Amino acid sequence: MELDSVEQIVDDAVRFWRKIADSENDAPRRRIFVEKLVKRDSVAMIFRSVRDRLRTLGTGLANYVTYEAGYDLAHRMVSKGAIRSLDDVPQIFALLGIGIVDIVRERLDRSYVRIYECLSCFGSNPVGKNMCFFELGALRAVYEALYGKVRIVEKECWGYGNRFCGFEIVAL
Ligand SMILES: [Zn+2]
Repeated sequence: MELDSVEQIVDDAVRFWRKIADSENDAPRRRIFVEKLVKRDSVAMIFRSVRDRLRTLGTGLANYVTYEAGYDLAHRMVSKGAIRSLDDVPQIFALLGIGIVDIVRERLDRSYVRIYECLSCFGSNPVGKNMCFFELGALRAVYEALYGKVRIVEKECWGYGNRFCGFEIVAL
């Protein structure tokens, strides 16, 4: 797929999901923009199937493994030169099927990033906790490679009842 059309889909998706995120309107239950990039959204089905099986061995184990897997994948993208700056992240994360990244606030000490149509939790019912360890690991790998040590907290999540995931990134 041409990078131009990926960029267009990401732009359209951010516009669409920003409106949903900031309103009480119903949200679609399908990853409608990711599905334009990844056929039949098999990425999420396979990922969640593996994660859910891992959870039978322990939630902590599943969280740890998916976190490290997200970290490794994003770290590889940086090492291979696919991600050279924060500007590359929305296209690469969209192409990988991780979700639609919206860099809402970019500051040296404290940044805030949203992911719409997220791989781990999109469309899930609230469970009272955050669910997106793969994405946490992936974001941490990117920020640490580009800027140095950070602490990242997932503040919003479908697991908390939001319709998007929000990550606060604090420089250490
Ligand atoms: Zn989430």
